[in-house]
Parts: sequence; structure tokens; C-alpha cells
Amino acid sequence: MSIAENLKKVTAMLPEAVTLVAVSKTKPNSDLLEAYGAGQRVFGENKVQEMTQKWETLPKDIQWHMIGHVQRNKVKYMAPYVHLVHGVDSFRLLKEINKQAQKHDRVIPCLLQMHIAEEETKFGLDKNELEEIIFSEEFQTLKNIRIDGLMGMATFTDNVNQIRKEFQSLQRIFHALKKTLPELSILSMGMSGDYQIAIEEGSTMVRIGSSIFGARNYS
Ligand SMILES: *Cc1c(COP(=O)(O)O)cnc(C)c1O
Repeated sequence: MSIAENLKKVTAMLPEAVTLVAVSKTKPNSDLLEAYGAGQRVFGENKVQEMTQKWETLPKDIQWHMIGHVQRNKVKYMAPYVHLVHGVDSFRLLKEINKQAQKHDRVIPCLLQMHIAEEETKFGLDKNELEEIIFSEEFQTLKNIRIDGLMGMATFTDNVNQIRKEFQSLQRIFHALKKTLPELSILSMGMSGDYQIAIEEGSTMVRIGSSIFGARNYS
């Protein structure tokens, strides 16, 4: 099936209120343009350099989402244009995003990434680290970032119950946090293998790559 056909199939599975981030990491511009031609405007990348190269050459009405782990020294390259940073997993990173956003006189929307998976290797904050950020005085002074919601990745497993429980835990944290930050609107969870469970558990934004663009080749 073509990228356009895959996109149509995936989109048909999504409730209207759920935003689709087409994850195009490792894929050539021609693949992104095919999705663009089929109407897709929101793309996700996990490397700042690759995303910036694509931003420079592809149509300017694309919204670029950084979904991967970000090194602080790379923030400056995406600060002029990034639409949403999903993977904010430390206060130091958030402060760097604020600093670079200030240079461009803009407010960069961010999601805080929570560690919900069993795997130690996955990035993200625990509840205590989240509260340390949200309730700190310094957080109030960051005028060039805006926290729009939370992001999380479930364990890579066939165990549907475990995946569901992990998404449920993220949804509970999201609702609890809304008491402090009522403006939160985005719960980014769900990938090709688990997005239907994520939607059942309250996801408002899914990040889907291989179901649209096919398997990735890292060689
Ligand atoms: C690669 C990636 C995705 C998409 O994964 P697929 O399984 O190809 O849909 C989603 N989220 C993050 C953070 C990723 O790195």
C-alpha cells in the first residue's frame, strides 16, 4: 500500500479530536511529501539535525514536532520553528528551551515526558520530579515556554493489559495535574503498535510512524 493509502487507513481509525503526528524519522523528503500531498501537516522527528534539514527544504506550513530525547546543546537549532517539544524530561532542558525561545521572541509549547514503562531505558520524569518542576518558583518565571500536556511511552510488549495499565497511569497523572494547570490539553500517547489502546485510555495525540511510512531501516 502507498503512504497516502496508509495515512487514510490510520486517519479513519482516529476519533476527530485526536491529533495525528506522522512520525517521519529516517524517511526521505519524498516520503514526507507524499504524506503532505495527502493532506498531512503534522510531522514528528526524533533528531534535531534531521528535523532541521527537513524544515529547511519542505513546505513551510508543516508543523514540526520533536518527539525524541533532546540534548540541551541542540535546542538552539529548532528554537526558531519547532511547533511542540514532546520529550521534556528535565528542568534543565525546559530552562534551555525557555532561553532559546526568548532569543526568537516566541513561546515554545512543551509536553513533559513521564516515565510510565517498565523498561529502565526509556526516558521520562517520575511523579516527584514532575512536582518539583511544576511547584518550583523558578517555573513561574519561565515566560517563553508553555506546558501544554504530558507525553509517555508504554513498555514494548505484547501484553495488552500491561500497556493499558501504563497508559491509565499516565492519564491519572494528567488529570491530577490539571487541578494545578487547568490549561493542559494534550495527552500524547500511542504509537503504531498500541495507539488504539492509548485512545481508549484518553490519548489526544498519537505518534505513528511505521503504520504510515513502513518499517524503518537504520543501517
Ligand atoms: C519512533 C517513535 C514513534 C513512532 O513509532 P512507530 O512504532 O513507528 O509508530 C512514536 N513515538 C516516539 C517517541 C518515537 O521515537
